Amino acid sequence: MKAAIYIRVSTDEQANEGFSIDAQKRRLLAYADSQDWEVTEVYIDDGWSAKDLKRPEMQRMIGDVKQKLFDVVLVYKLDRMTRSSNDCDHLLKMFEAHSVKFQSCTESFETRTATGRLFIRLVADIAQWERENTAERVRFGMEQMVMEGRRPGGPVPFGYDKSGKLVEEEAAQIRLLRRFYMEGDGIKAIAIKLNGMGKYRRGFKWSAFPVWYILDNPYYAGKLRYGTKKSNGKYASRKKEGVVDLIVQESDNEKLFTWEEYEEHKAEMHRRSFDGYSKSREYWFSGVLICGKCGSKMSGRYHQNKRKDGSYNKITSYICANRQTGKGCTMPMFRQELVEKLLMEWIEGKLTIDHNVIREISVTAEEDPNESLRDDLNKELQKVRERRKKWQRMYADDLISQDELREHNADEKANEDIIMAELEKMPEMSSESLTAPSDIIYDLPELWPLMEDKDKHDLILDIFKEIKLYTPVDKAHGKKGKFIPASIESVVFN
Ligand SMILES: [Zn+2]
Repeated sequence: MKAAIYIRVSTDEQANEGFSIDAQKRRLLAYADSQDWEVTEVYIDDGWSAKDLKRPEMQRMIGDVKQKLFDVVLVYKLDRMTRSSNDCDHLLKMFEAHSVKFQSCTESFETRTATGRLFIRLVADIAQWERENTAERVRFGMEQMVMEGRRPGGPVPFGYDKSGKLVEEEAAQIRLLRRFYMEGDGIKAIAIKLNGMGKYRRGFKWSAFPVWYILDNPYYAGKLRYGTKKSNGKYASRKKEGVVDLIVQESDNEKLFTWEEYEEHKAEMHRRSFDGYSKSREYWFSGVLICGKCGSKMSGRYHQNKRKDGSYNKITSYICANRQTGKGCTMPMFRQELVEKLLMEWIEGKLTIDHNVIREISVTAEEDPNESLRDDLNKELQKVRERRKKWQRMYADDLISQDELREHNADEKANEDIIMAELEKMPEMSSESLTAPSDIIYDLPELWPLMEDKDKHDLILDIFKEIKLYTPVDKAHGKKGKFIPASIESVVFN
């Protein structure tokens, strides 16, 4: 392999012995030697910062990459090449386009594998936005994977094996599920039907959510979708904000539905969902609401106000049973839309960043969504540890000095720490924890506007045993477009 080495020192670093051009060069040559690479080009930017790519030797190197004068570019550290995540991305893409590899001799990444490319982008991000949270870095990597047409880790969707091939027995269930839906069944009814037929999904009983997921997921029609939530990890309200940063990419799995079929049942879902947050008269929350002032149940009530133009404004509310019977509770009536808003806000408030990452990549929830990412990180860890041994050997062979060995060890230790930290943030999940109602609720804000009224009530009963409401207000004066100040005091799950 022909290798080019790129060396950079900033004006500040010129005086620093450890980063001197000579020190970098020695190590790069030793590294190339250890890999059996022939060094054919040397680029040295002496006294230049890495804030952008406007450096004479960098520009010359870019020109030579485009002519593919060598197979690999070797640097001492990623930050020698760039300190900007955008530039890093740009360079990697350019390298890739010209089949030139990139290798850092002190850091645990390379661009020969997708995992390596994922990792390097993570590291570039860490360098630029150290203060930003893990979720965003992971998300960044995941998005990259989606762009490359690969499923970003996560559980294998029901119906498929790991290689993206259909599992016929599961696929048959999904076709049946869709047939029921198109024949007019609701998602809850479909779950009950399938369970009644003794058909389970990988040993789990069907419930409304997986049915909905499967119908909604374009993966079954050969497309990957990622990022239905905002960058701050919160759910975008489809009605208000649309779907933010949505990536849809062709994937290479076997198709279960044609795209036309997918669009057909999506259109049916849309038709049934009745224009986002519904104005229907159904009582979505009956049976679960508790008055936070006296502890009584709150029951649904329906009334209408006459508008100026003579038409009626129909309002669904919930009233404390104790107050209704005149026993002195001061709890005002809660409009259904207020309860809905409070519940969605409460759920969003409960969302943790890690959980978001997990949920975003979950399609069905039987398997550990972090499994493949954790595998990748473990592999990287293994590489770091092997490289440590290699430095020891190089030192033993007099290829590097003791100081250099010490530096390498420090660098590898830093790499190891980064990987360990990432791993720690990705605890293993048991299937139980993912299928528990408390986990299912995280999807509710996204599913909610798309569901039929009847399904809404069913789902609330599925998930919650009690939702306790509270407001300091005693009398509610209905004001147009204004809700009374209120909150969800507590929740009991089923
Ligand atoms: Zn009450």
